[in-house]
Amino acid sequence: MKQTKIVATIGPASESKVILRKMIEAGMNVVRLNFSHGEHPWHKSVINRVRELSEELHTPIGILADLQGPRIRTEVKEDITVKKGTRVCVSDIAQRENLPKSKDKTILLDMAGIISGVKVGHAILIEDGTVELTVAEVGENFVVAVSKNAGTIKNRKGVILPDSHLVLNILSEKDRKDLHFIVDEGVDFVGVSFVGSAQDIASVREAMKEMSSGRTSLPKIVSKIERKEAIKNLVAIVKASDVVMAARGDLGVEMPESEVTILQKHIIAESLRSAKPVIVATQMLQSMTENPRPTRAEVSDVSNAVIDHADAVMLSEESAAGKYPVETVAMMAEIVEKTEESPFDDLFQELDLNFRSETAAMLRSVYHLAQSYEAKAILLFSASGHTARLLSHFRPERKLLVATNNRKTYNELSVVWGIDPYLFEGNDSLDASIEHLIKEAKKDGKLRAGDQAVVFEGQTPGQDMMKLVGIRKIR
Ligand code: PGA
Ligand code: MN
Repeated sequence: MKQTKIVATIGPASESKVILRKMIEAGMNVVRLNFSHGEHPWHKSVINRVRELSEELHTPIGILADLQGPRIRTEVKEDITVKKGTRVCVSDIAQRENLPKSKDKTILLDMAGIISGVKVGHAILIEDGTVELTVAEVGENFVVAVSKNAGTIKNRKGVILPDSHLVLNILSEKDRKDLHFIVDEGVDFVGVSFVGSAQDIASVREAMKEMSSGRTSLPKIVSKIERKEAIKNLVAIVKASDVVMAARGDLGVEMPESEVTILQKHIIAESLRSAKPVIVATQMLQSMTENPRPTRAEVSDVSNAVIDHADAVMLSEESAAGKYPVETVAMMAEIVEKTEESPFDDLFQELDLNFRSETAAMLRSVYHLAQSYEAKAILLFSASGHTARLLSHFRPERKLLVATNNRKTYNELSVVWGIDPYLFEGNDSLDASIEHLIKEAKKDGKLRAGDQAVVFEGQTPGQDMMKLVGIRKIR
């Protein structure tokens, strides 16, 4: 069984129940819905299908609803063809009526007020950096920018301003509508795009609270690290997040592409330190959108994310719109398994855990106990999932079987490295839950008579302690 989880984006290529079932069987743990595309009824139908399959297959499948976020887009009346050195006038839609008659062609950015943060020397990147402009002059309510290369500037293309200090509203009008739907649907995770600061995450949490009319269980926040600003504020952002995503697509436009690998390692290390699950995203098996087999470089990319100790690896276009969604998940799972079988992903030194020392000490002892007894599994009861995440942080290379009585926890653990959750709804005592867990795990062939297991009980509400039960020989 693989321990690194797989997130797969669903789209026209994978929306049917038949394909979804095959993807789950091939190793998909979390379904991602990209709210840049599709209407609410479509999203709802996929959510329903995934929930049915989760029940039918007795397996937790997390649902991640990914907001489009404050993406800036171009507004041009007609395509603008530029050569190296061509001058263009750039402003934003708030200035539409105030612009001087210019001999240069004009591009409007569709976010009011944004142009005031753009200064001389700043880069303006259009359509994933296909056209790169540099600001040469700043006017009263516009800038003049010079193209660094030849290309075409089209209408409604994404714009990135990596150097400009932008006060982005983290939720656009569209995002608010989507977030309302997401909260109502009770999905497990919400992806927040273009996070710049810890305050952005607080704003989203606040907005969800207002929308939920008192409901306590809100989606966990996945912060997408894809801006230069987010790299600057990484430590605070990770602390404020529930889950982190290295969103390499946009990150590789905002930052030099040559730095993406190192930034990925940086983002993962920081997430591990705070015991926050971390997802590596974008272009992992990109060529499988068209081809039945990946490139060697892509295989290497997936392996290296496993070796970096990411909790999960993600598929985007490959699984949403590609020709081989099932084969792509199967290939990813195979690469993950082969890498995990090797010694290269074993942790040779304990990571420094940024946590209360007694909690860390307790978990450390569970880890060492499992090592010295060569235990097959660690058995854990965890109501909120907190202890399960902390234990996963040590990346013990054995089965982490977690009993929970909370359906939300059961689904949320789908993204956490190595955790194999079992749901027992009801009011069983902790001991009874562990007995249940052993019985079910034996049925699934995950434990056998004669196996050693370390038994451990997580913190439970109103009982602020952890209990190390000890070594248990399975009968
Ligand atoms: P996106 O995010 O696919 O929503 O743009 C991921 C990324 O930028 O890598
Ligand atoms: Mn992105």
